[in-house]
Amino acid sequence: MAKTDAPQRDMTSIGEVANPPFVRLPEPLQLFSTRAARFRYLAEGHDLRPYLLFLAGISDAQDRAQGDLPTPDLPEPDALRRAREFGMPAFDRARFAPDPVFELTLERVLALAEGIDMPEAAAAALARLRAAGPAARADMVRSVLAYAIPMETLAEHLYAAAALQVHFARLAARLDAKTLVPVGDAVCPVCGSPPATSMVVGWQGAHGTRYCGCGLCGTLWNYVRIKCTLCASTAGISYQEIDGGAGTVKAEICKNCNGYVKVLHQHLDPAVDVIADDVASLGLDLLVRETGFRRGGVNPFLVGY
Ligand SMILES: [Zn+2]
Ligand SMILES: [Zn+2]
Repeated sequence: MAKTDAPQRDMTSIGEVANPPFVRLPEPLQLFSTRAARFRYLAEGHDLRPYLLFLAGISDAQDRAQGDLPTPDLPEPDALRRAREFGMPAFDRARFAPDPVFELTLERVLALAEGIDMPEAAAAALARLRAAGPAARADMVRSVLAYAIPMETLAEHLYAAAALQVHFARLAARLDAKTLVPVGDAVCPVCGSPPATSMVVGWQGAHGTRYCGCGLCGTLWNYVRIKCTLCASTAGISYQEIDGGAGTVKAEICKNCNGYVKVLHQHLDPAVDVIADDVASLGLDLLVRETGFRRGGVNPFLVGY
C-alpha cells in the first residue's frame, strides 16, 4: 500500500549535496495513502494505537475522497505573479473561502469517515458536522485556518482540517515549483503556514539537507539546519530525543524563543512522515514540555496537546 518516491531517493549519494531544490510540492495521490500506511505501521504496539489507527482511517478517507473531484481553481496568474514579486505565499490562507470544489471535498471526506472505527465522541462530532449547514462549516474552516480552534469542538475541526489538507495539497500540486520564492523564516511558500515538523532528508542531490513540512498543503521547503524554525535564531539550539529511541525523531529546542519543533531524520528512515511521526512521538512533546519549552509545530492532528 505504501508508495515510495524511490526514483528521487538514493541513499548511496552521501555528501553529494549540490543544489537542493527549494521546494518539493506534494503529490496528493500518493501523500495520503502513504501516510495511512505509516500511521498503521506506527500504531503497532503503541500506547496511542486507537488514535493512530483512527488517523490512518482519516488518511484513507483523504486519499479516497480525491476520486474524480474536479480540479481546484488556482488564483489568477496576476495574483500569483504579485505574490511572487512581493515575497508572499502563493495562496493567502487567511482569505480562503470555501468554494464548490472544497465543499465537495469536505462532503466526501465526511462520508468516507463514516466507515472508520472511532470512539462515540468522534462519531457524534462527525454526525454534527455532516448535519451542519454551509455557514457553520465555513466558520469551522476559518477557525482551522486561523489556528483558533475551540477546545470543545476539536473533533469537528479535525475533519474540517483533513478536508483542507486535501484541498490545499491539490492546489499546491498544480503550481510550478520553480515559480515559488522564500517568503520568510519557516513560512510555507505555498500557503503561509508554519511547519508541522522539519525533516533532514536522504534525497539524491539534497542528502543531509533539511526541509520544513507544511501541515496544511504538504509542501516541503528547504531550511538550513541548526536554526530555529520559530524565531530563526542559530544560537542556543539543542536537541532532545527519547532515551533508547531510533534517533529518527528529535526536538530542536531554542533557548532564544523557548520553543521547539521536531526534526525527523528521513535519511535514516525513508518512511518517516511529517504528520504521522509527529503524532506518534507525542511522548517527546511531553518530555520536552516538562523542561519548560512550548511546542511550536502546527499539526492539525495534535491540536490541544
Ligand atoms: Zn503549505
Ligand atoms: Zn527560536
